[in-house]
Amino acid sequence: MEKILIIEDEDRILMGLEDDLRFEGYDVASAKDGLQGLTMAKEKAYDLIILDLMLPKLNGFEVCKQLRQAGIATPILMLTAKSQEVDKVLGLELGADDYVTKPFSPRELLARVKALLRRTQSNLSTSALFHFGDFEIDFKKYEARKSGRQFHLTALEFDLLRLFIQHPNEVLSRDFILDKIWGEEVYVNNRTVDTHVAQLRKKIEDDPANPKYIVGVRGVGYKFVPTI
Ligand code: CA
Repeated sequence: MEKILIIEDEDRILMGLEDDLRFEGYDVASAKDGLQGLTMAKEKAYDLIILDLMLPKLNGFEVCKQLRQAGIATPILMLTAKSQEVDKVLGLELGADDYVTKPFSPRELLARVKALLRRTQSNLSTSALFHFGDFEIDFKKYEARKSGRQFHLTALEFDLLRLFIQHPNEVLSRDFILDKIWGEEVYVNNRTVDTHVAQLRKKIEDDPANPKYIVGVRGVGYKFVPTI
């Protein structure tokens, strides 16, 4: 299930968005000011962020800028008012991916959300070859090499590594990893994530006890650091 974070301070708009997106099957979280939104977006990985421009505590520009500076590449759909023509462009320059002008129809917004999610997902699936450190990972052929030498990863380890690579420098919670890799399967729990991360570390870390690529974040989950 795709996770969407809405950062919007107007109750009426927020509740409308929450209802519409939940009805479409998205997992929705929300924040009512910029600071709370920024914190949530840094703590947990989302597939999309809907970000209002005029927000208390920290405005949408700042939230967007600080997320990108933190290396968080989650697609951002900006909500702007009609009078903010100039701001629109600025919003995109700051790293927003698209914008919708208020007032918008639910149908228009849903179309943008779907298009944005589709675009980012197809981008990810086309970049099949990924490099980090001495590693080269080919996600199309399911081949992994270290310093040119092939080594074995299971299909699940490939999926896990791909998830980390898709969210560089982001802390992924165990719940998020479970949901993305195992989906609806009910016999897995947080321990399962730890077990498989430990196995993956044995294969890619020089010192699995002191990992430099897949770093543990106490009480939350794991973070992939793509050291060059
Ligand atoms: Ca607002």
